[in-house]
Formats: sequence, structure tokens, C-alpha cells
Amino acid sequence: MRSFAYVVPDSVAGAVDALAAAEPGTKILAGGTTLYDLMKLGIEAPPAVIDIHRLAELTEISTGEDGLSFGAGARMAEVADHPVVRRDYPALSESLWRAASQQLRNMATVGGNLLQRTRCGYFRGGAEFPCNKRNPGSGCAALEGLDRTHALLGTSDTCIATYPGDWAVALIAFDAELDVVGPAGERTLPLGELHVEPGDNPLLEHTLAPDELILRIRVPATPAGRGSTYHKIRDRESYAFALTSAATAVTLDAQGLVTDCRIGLGGVATRPWRATTAERSLIGEQLTRETARRAGEVAFAEARPPRTGAFRVELGIRTVTDALLTAGKRAAR
Ligand SMILES: Cc1cc2nc3c(=O)[nH]c(=O)nc-3n(C[C@H](O)[C@H](O)[C@H](O)COP(=O)(O)OP(=O)(O)OC[C@H]3O[C@@H](n4cnc5c(N)ncnc54)[C@H](O)[C@@H]3O)c2cc1C
Ligand code: SF4
Repeated sequence: MRSFAYVVPDSVAGAVDALAAAEPGTKILAGGTTLYDLMKLGIEAPPAVIDIHRLAELTEISTGEDGLSFGAGARMAEVADHPVVRRDYPALSESLWRAASQQLRNMATVGGNLLQRTRCGYFRGGAEFPCNKRNPGSGCAALEGLDRTHALLGTSDTCIATYPGDWAVALIAFDAELDVVGPAGERTLPLGELHVEPGDNPLLEHTLAPDELILRIRVPATPAGRGSTYHKIRDRESYAFALTSAATAVTLDAQGLVTDCRIGLGGVATRPWRATTAERSLIGEQLTRETARRAGEVAFAEARPPRTGAFRVELGIRTVTDALLTAGKRAAR
């Protein structure tokens, strides 16, 4: 076993100081449900971990008129079950309920969830497989291998790994922002700018600096929250990652015409994906199965399906269609 230092600060300032002073490669430890897994597999080998479980500020949840705020250390289960989140933003609650298992949701945090890494089997499979994300320049085993669950959108010639999380897909549909802190103080980072596509450097997955910590996730208030849902299609109905997923939210006027539309796609792209052209295609339209399907087709118009995962284009279109119709029913209540 590889040894590592274990640091437990009792204030945010202490955590920032510990990160600034730490050896390169040091990691924040939240619930540990991903990080410890990756350490056991030898994919991550931090010289130290900074455990943030004592930072009470990071567990605060507030639901005011300006919107929602979730401390990065709040547990997935707690946010999923929050009565205001369930009532006013069902897509957010459902994205968490449909993620992982009850045991994991009790332990895992909403901040750690955003930074989970791909489930690409070659990435996790060990040194015998070439993988540009694990070992830059070694190649990509998935390009000629088992690519059934790999990405359709945002891929590059060096990596086609899917971003696996559910929560970020719902958050991106609501223009969520992160408050992050580092040695230079606090800054706000739109969630849509956190994750990056692989391009020619798949090792780089997000724009958070190594010495920065996510403090909280904020969701601006929007009437579209109540007319929202998260649909997730997977190989089995529980404890599995998405083959396709869609977070949708709509607002309708008195005539039933769409005045606001949000579509996030999951399980199909290299990062949480916002389908803005598809959203625009519905503005001013009646929400019918036909217009919803058309929006789904627009959302996947640029898809470059993996060889054995081409069925997920049609699956994705149907997921968006059904999710839009559910969101529309909720918005009309
Ligand atoms: C079997 C299994 C099935 C799963 N299924 C799903 C699923 O269907 N959908 C889904 O969305 N997820 C799924 N997950 C992933 C799970 O939800 C994540 O493991 C979990 O959310 C990570 O949270 P954590 O608090 O345990 O993070 P950790 O493992 O502690 O940390 C994860 C990463 O985030 C970093 N980090 C954590 N907190 C912060 C912070 N505040 N600031 C900066 N960096 C931070 C850590 O350094 C680390 O790199 C599954 C996991 C497992 C093991
Ligand atoms: S798809 Fe990405 S993560 Fe998977 S083997 Fe290829 S380079 Fe590695």
C-alpha cells in the first residue's frame, strides 16, 4: 500500500492554507466514495489528502427567494430529500435520487459528485490499456475497443470518455454557479465553465486550480424550476450510470406556448452538456410530442456516435422527448 498524509482542518481558512502548503497532487477528501476507489486502483496517488468533513460552513443549505445554495459538503441524500428542492426544482432532486445507491448518497457530497472521473473501463482498467487520460500520449483503447457507453458529443481524436455524473446535468440546465476559494480569495465560477472537453489534452478535466476548494453551489431562482424533471435511462433501474439522461425545464404562458426552456444532457457527452439550440427551437411553440421530438433531434444533430453505441442517438432523442413532455405537464399545473 502506498502511504499518504491525512490532514483534517477545522476551518475553511485552515483548509486553504493546508492546500497552498501541500505537495503537488494533494487532494481534497469529501465523502471519499470516488477518491478512495481511484487510489485503490492506482489511478490517483496523492501524497496527502485534506479531509473537509469538519467544515460546518460547507454543509449549509439555504433556499431563499434569490435561489438555492448548497454547501459543497452537503450529502447527496440530504439535498435530494430537501422539501423545497423536491417541490420547486424536481429535476435537481431527481438527478440525485437516480444517482448511485442509498449508501453512496448518504456518504457522498454534492461537491465531490461534480468532480467524479469517467467510468471508461480502459481508464480504470490499469496499465495494460493505453489511455490518454491516465497516461498522456499512450493512445486510446476505447477507439478500437468496447465503446458502447462512450460519448457522442464533445469527443476528440484522443478521448471519447463520457462524463458520468447526473447532478451536474441538472445543475447546468439551471445556470448554476460555484463559489470557490483559494489563496487569492473567493471567486465565482459558472458551472458551465467547470468541466472541459478532452481536446488534445484529456488529462485536463476541469478549470479548478489545484489549490482551490469548492465552497458552495448556487442555483438562481427561476419559475422554470417547478416545471422540470430528470429522466435517466440505464441498463438496470438502480445503481447504474446513465446510457442517456435529460434534465428538462419549461415555462408555459396562458396559451400553453413555451416561454423558457432548459435542456441538459447526460451520459452522452464528455462533459455535462447544455443543448441550447434545441432549447431555442421550442420557444414560442406549443409543447407537443412532435415539437418535443424535434427538439430532441436538434439536441443530437451534432452527435458522433461510438461504433457500438449508435443506438444511443435515438435513445437520447426519446429521452429528451419524454422529459420535455413530463416537464410540460408539471409546468401546466
Ligand atoms: C458504484 C458506484 C455507482 C455510482 N453511480 C453514480 C451514478 O449513477 N450517478 C452519479 O452521479 N454518481 C455515481 N457515483 C459517483 C458518486 O456519486 C460519487 O462517488 C460521489 O458523488 C463523490 O462524492 P464524494 O463526496 O464521495 O467525493 P470524493 O470521492 O471525496 O471526491 C471526489 C473528487 O472531488 C474532489 N473534491 C471533493 N470535494 C471537493 C471540494 N469541496 N472542492 C474541491 N474538490 C473537491 C476530490 O478531491 C476528488 O477529486 C457512483 C459511485 C459508485 C462507487
Ligand atoms: S476514452 Fe479516454 S479515458 Fe477511455 S481509454 Fe480512451 S483516452 Fe482513456
